[in-house]
Amino acid sequence: MILALLLVAQAAAPQRVLVKAAHLIDGNSEAARDGLAVLVEGDRIVKVGPAAELQTAGVKVIDLGNAWLLPGLIDAHTHVLLQGDVTAADYDEQLLKESIPYRALRASASVRTAVMNGFTAIRDLETEGAMYADVDVKTAIARGVIPGPRMFVSTRSMAPTGMYPLSGYSWELHVPEGVQIVDGPDAIRKAVREEVKYGADWIKFYSDRKYYKTNDPQRPLRSWVNFTKPELEAMVDEAHRLGRKVAAHAMAWDGIDAALTAHVDSIEHGDGLTDDLMERMVRQNVAWCPTIYVGIWVAQGRGGIWPDMVPMEREAFAKALKRGVRITYGTDVGGYSWAENQAKELSIMVRYGMTPMAAIKSATSVAASLLDPLCAPQAANCEGSNIGVVAPGKFADLIAVDADPLKDVSALEHVHFVMKGGEVLKSR
Ligand SMILES: [Zn+2]
Repeated sequence: MILALLLVAQAAAPQRVLVKAAHLIDGNSEAARDGLAVLVEGDRIVKVGPAAELQTAGVKVIDLGNAWLLPGLIDAHTHVLLQGDVTAADYDEQLLKESIPYRALRASASVRTAVMNGFTAIRDLETEGAMYADVDVKTAIARGVIPGPRMFVSTRSMAPTGMYPLSGYSWELHVPEGVQIVDGPDAIRKAVREEVKYGADWIKFYSDRKYYKTNDPQRPLRSWVNFTKPELEAMVDEAHRLGRKVAAHAMAWDGIDAALTAHVDSIEHGDGLTDDLMERMVRQNVAWCPTIYVGIWVAQGRGGIWPDMVPMEREAFAKALKRGVRITYGTDVGGYSWAENQAKELSIMVRYGMTPMAAIKSATSVAASLLDPLCAPQAANCEGSNIGVVAPGKFADLIAVDADPLKDVSALEHVHFVMKGGEVLKSR
């Protein structure tokens, strides 16, 4: 009996693994550090220190040689249930001709791609008509059924009647909706409660549509706002009351203004950001997910206002860097094909003026701070971020690359080692 207990105790002791690499970028520090190793026990990091000190008997060693070790990357804007929609026809095709189970199967391939490319956490910003299937994908990953990143999901985004696809079909047809259609503050409160009930970690809505250019240098990109002020107030209030943050798709001045007035937590896309809006974002500590590459990609296929928004966003990005807006890595992958590595946005951010280290932080510790749970004021036991940094107590989510990403950040498009929660998912 005693022997059996001992055996059980032994079996339950988590394995200790030492991950060694020549260089460490920890997600927080301003510079890389050499000669350190990361001691992992179970799914957590327990120590970061000199390799020689941590390499003791009974510890399994993973030696990555001359590699650069980093925290797992975080993409704060994805769509695992979408497979590229450069045109409205691409989008409609997926909603009309693919069942939700089929789309979920494709999503299981998307999440595998994400984690194998080094993205160990994602915030998935709506299922585009696939109801709550993101919750199912998240559950399958969490239970070890399929490999994938940690998922923060928003289930169905919200828009009022007639303000989001599918549209343009005969009124005699009942076509799928790309979002949860909601009108009026009470219905919106109920919708928030329903989404949270079925597993939403975040609430997302579409703040604007019909983007147009003006000659006003203060407000060069305008738009039509979707929700009324009382509707948005109800949405954000109810979400925050239930401990959920709110993400606003907001492209142009009017949509961003409405979202900031309602006190959202993140602005998605934000191509038309101006000085006054950025000042409000800094004051309110609102994050910006610029999703630059998807804008460049869809501009080619969509035409119209879309190509004009690319240089506008580039200008906004430069201003945001100067003003200290919290720029959070978000790609909108799924809006473009999952076959393209979602790490390529890093190079664009650097081309737009960010240092490689700032771009890496944007995709690690900065993104992690956005994903932190919303805590009640004075909550004593509020758990902060568990990801985005290589430090004791954090999840053992680690990646490695061969070349120095601080010299050329595109090195992060070639991740050859992925550990998530202490489990090695990729090794060469
Ligand atoms: Zn999106």
